[in-house]
Amino acid sequence: MVELIKMTTPAQRRRALKEAGFNTFLLKSEDVYIDLLTDSGTNAMSDQQWSGMMLGDEAYAGSKNFYHLEKVIQEVYGYKYLVPTHQGRGAENILSQIMIKKGDIVPGNMYFTTTRLHQELAGGTFVDVIIDDAHDSTSEHPFKGDIDLGKVESLIKKHGPKKIPYICVATTVNMAGGQPISLKNLKELRKLTKKHGIKIMLDMTRIAENAYFIQQREKGYEKKSVREIVREICDQTDGATMSGKKDACVNIGGFLALNDWDSFEEARNMVVVYEGLHTYGGMAGRDMEALAIGLLESVHDDHMRARVGQVAYLGNQMMEYGIPIVQPIGGHGIFVDAKRFLPHLTQDQFPAQTLAAEIYLDAGIRTMERGIVSAGRKPNGENYYPKLELVRFTLPRRVYTQAHMDVIAESAARVLDRRDKIKGMKMVYEPKYLRFFQARFEVL
Ligand SMILES: *Cc1c(COP(=O)(O)O)cnc(C)c1O
Repeated sequence: MVELIKMTTPAQRRRALKEAGFNTFLLKSEDVYIDLLTDSGTNAMSDQQWSGMMLGDEAYAGSKNFYHLEKVIQEVYGYKYLVPTHQGRGAENILSQIMIKKGDIVPGNMYFTTTRLHQELAGGTFVDVIIDDAHDSTSEHPFKGDIDLGKVESLIKKHGPKKIPYICVATTVNMAGGQPISLKNLKELRKLTKKHGIKIMLDMTRIAENAYFIQQREKGYEKKSVREIVREICDQTDGATMSGKKDACVNIGGFLALNDWDSFEEARNMVVVYEGLHTYGGMAGRDMEALAIGLLESVHDDHMRARVGQVAYLGNQMMEYGIPIVQPIGGHGIFVDAKRFLPHLTQDQFPAQTLAAEIYLDAGIRTMERGIVSAGRKPNGENYYPKLELVRFTLPRRVYTQAHMDVIAESAARVLDRRDKIKGMKMVYEPKYLRFFQARFEVL
């Protein structure tokens, strides 16, 4: 689908931003020229997916689109059982509730906003076990999503394996800049966790992008297809939560996939409370059909090369302008290091939130804060202070052209030129959960 684009004037953008409390999540889409807020549900569906939408079997129970989706998931990922959900966080809620007990520890390769919140609401404590390189925006480690096995071992020693229901492994790691985990690391983790009877649950939101990086960077995988690598990743794990809105290019949808019958039975029972019947889980039949087709398309090598290649094109442009970005360039967007971009601001002055607002003011390009605002507060009320303070320029799949990329890089370069004049912000409204979505700010 294509849309007419709308240009705005600087005065219009100033007004829109003020009305939005300097939070790009609160801008109206009409006031945005190029929308890089997220790659979630904003992708262009293919001809095949749109045709699939016409084949929706909207029976309340036992829709044939559910069985198609189940078959695709079994074939592509190898998981036995499917619990459909309305999107990724629906699956996170169910997984957290059935697996986590009060006082449990849930290690993961860096937090993700909704994932960690569901773990905490279930009574668990998230512990970051990603390698230290991931928190350093200048480290060029090819697999910054890797897990530090030493950190996992010391958690097991400290708390005992019974307190660790599973390790949550993200492919790719969103908050680290779309960075992949290597199969070597995942296999070592599997060996370690097996010894202690600890499960591995994937957050496989961008697993195809992770697999593409493995094909490009990891020894022994050069000749394997993205699809084969995806399968090998899943084979190291016990189940997964999935947001269909990224890799699979649908506007809405997700699922929980499991290999263990008992957990599946519990999840399938719980899905009827929160999502819908176990054969639709909050999706229409047509949504499930488009998701099934999108999952198959996501593991095509050529599609992945075009997708990740466009992100790399933008990243290289930005680096030529001297814009400090997270390296290596990740899979779904460019993450600008706001601490290095605005070195005169302290973290309490919200450098990434400020930079996202300034980027919008320059040319109507909408990006997102991934720093202290997104990190939120601990259950005891203290702020998290993440090392990374980033602005995410996320590229929707199959939506923008290379010319758009040039406009984006030029705009960011203009903001860099006038960075000394940029002042920080203060938060004037803070919601209790996932504050980044609705918080409001004022310029200092
Ligand atoms: C988007 C996302 C989720 C949550 O999925 P939704 O479909 O937005 O609910 C979970 N984990 C990661 C890494 C994501 O990017």
